[in-house]
Amino acid sequence: MSMENLSVARKGYFGEFGGSFVPEDLQGVLNELEQQFLKYKDDPEFIEEYKYYLREYIGRENPLTFAENLTKQIGGAKIYLKREDLNHTGAHKINNAIGQILLAKRMGAKRIIAETGAGQHGVATATACAMFGMECIIYMGKLDTERQALNVFRMELLGAKVIPVTKGQGRLKDAVDEALGDLVQNYQNTFYLLGSAVGPHPYPTMVKHFQAIISEESKRQVLEKEGKLPTAVIACAGGGSNAIGAFAHYIDEENVRLIGVEPAEAPTLTEGVPAVIHGFKCLTLIDENGEPKPTYSIAAGLDYPGVGPEHSYLKESGRAEYVTATGQDALEAFQLLCKTEGIIPALESSHAVAHAVKLAKELSSDDVLIVNLSGRGDKDVEQVFQMLKK
Ligand SMILES: *Cc1c(COP(=O)(O)O)cnc(C)c1O
Repeated sequence: MSMENLSVARKGYFGEFGGSFVPEDLQGVLNELEQQFLKYKDDPEFIEEYKYYLREYIGRENPLTFAENLTKQIGGAKIYLKREDLNHTGAHKINNAIGQILLAKRMGAKRIIAETGAGQHGVATATACAMFGMECIIYMGKLDTERQALNVFRMELLGAKVIPVTKGQGRLKDAVDEALGDLVQNYQNTFYLLGSAVGPHPYPTMVKHFQAIISEESKRQVLEKEGKLPTAVIACAGGGSNAIGAFAHYIDEENVRLIGVEPAEAPTLTEGVPAVIHGFKCLTLIDENGEPKPTYSIAAGLDYPGVGPEHSYLKESGRAEYVTATGQDALEAFQLLCKTEGIIPALESSHAVAHAVKLAKELSSDDVLIVNLSGRGDKDVEQVFQMLKK
């Protein structure tokens, strides 16, 4: 896709971050999407339907579990776990997939397209499409289809067509380009379902809207259980969708610390610089040539050189803190949560658990921490087996 004719819309900005840096034909599609999102997000019938599927299909609300054994073992702050791992399909991604597909249905779309790297967003999208009887096309880098053969099969079982992308390096970025090309060609009947709080406006705002259910629930739950707000909310950050959803209802509560945990191997917010990637501006890791830098995290869902624009702004404005945890830290936290609580966390979520354990020790028993357990670790058990055997 040519990057000439850039049209820059001064909306969807978080400080200097966000916006929409896309060719003009795509901008028209995004403008229409923004209109429809604004129209339906406050529509009582739309909200009722969204809440219906959250409850009856995803299984919300999920609990805010007091991790009593872990708290006792660590000493210090009380640790609570927001249980996104208990959602249907095993992570937070389905909240957003259901929200967007309901919007797609309202817009008369018959075809859903998405791109996926590790396959988790592809699986959530294919699940939602099966539920709503929509045609589902998933673009995936050829290399990724080979590394994630089981997730490809999972998507196919759910009725999706997975298209391996051989262009470029056959990675996520190339799959994004193919999906955007498809959207421009087929926008009359096609909806692009984006999986994280990234991309051009209105996606970061829309994804936050559908993930905000996490903190809407946790705030109510912590007030019920503790009679006060938490000292801190901790979430892992890849693109940033589970973190922004976990933070959303606390952003205006100045006394609640918001802490995003990145993999030390892809420290976008801690070491990134402002740049435009994939159609929006954010803190990002770039190489000498200004290209997105290849990253490697043991948690596939955190392996992205950019991050959502709102996190970039929360970092620069000082409202949220961003720290790192190494793959080794995450691996230890993974095992600790298994043994103490009988919960197998996703390797992504294990980064947040690792930081919570560190922070809890520095605080007192009057402090309350909420860790967003973004997903379950069943998908990671074989990988952990390989790592621990070595
Ligand atoms: C995809 C994924 C993430 C990372 O994505 P965000 O948009 O940063 O939330 C984190 N945890 C799990 C379990 C995931 O599947």
